[in-house]
Amino acid sequence: MPRRKKTFLCGHQGYGQGCHRCAQVRTAREKHDRARAEKQERKQEWEASFAEDPIDLRNLPDHVVVKARAIIAGLMTSRNYREFGGKRLRHDRFIISIPVTRNYRMLCRDCGTFLVPEEVLSHEEYNVCKPGS
Ligand SMILES: [Zn+2]
Repeated sequence: MPRRKKTFLCGHQGYGQGCHRCAQVRTAREKHDRARAEKQERKQEWEASFAEDPIDLRNLPDHVVVKARAIIAGLMTSRNYREFGGKRLRHDRFIISIPVTRNYRMLCRDCGTFLVPEEVLSHEEYNVCKPGS
């Protein structure tokens, strides 16, 4: 027995209880909304994570933030800054400059037994703040 096509309230035609075309659209929209909500959530988690940093890492590219955090964590577990390629500044021996990426450096203050991260600077900012060069 051939099934009769019917016209749903939405105007689409088809078989069965409800309109499959509208159901598909609904599913796609729900999937899209869910993905958007998850993305929003990840974004909020990422924004919130900056509150945990000992120095302000906002406004830095994401990959710089991730690398800077790895260095900070390493320094906190008393790893030597030289392991990260850090060097003392010539004009201020208490400041240690650690390369984060090719374009970013972290400045840390030598407090004797430990290093205190002070800021992450881009290569341009770093060159501007470096006196006598
Ligand atoms: Zn429909």
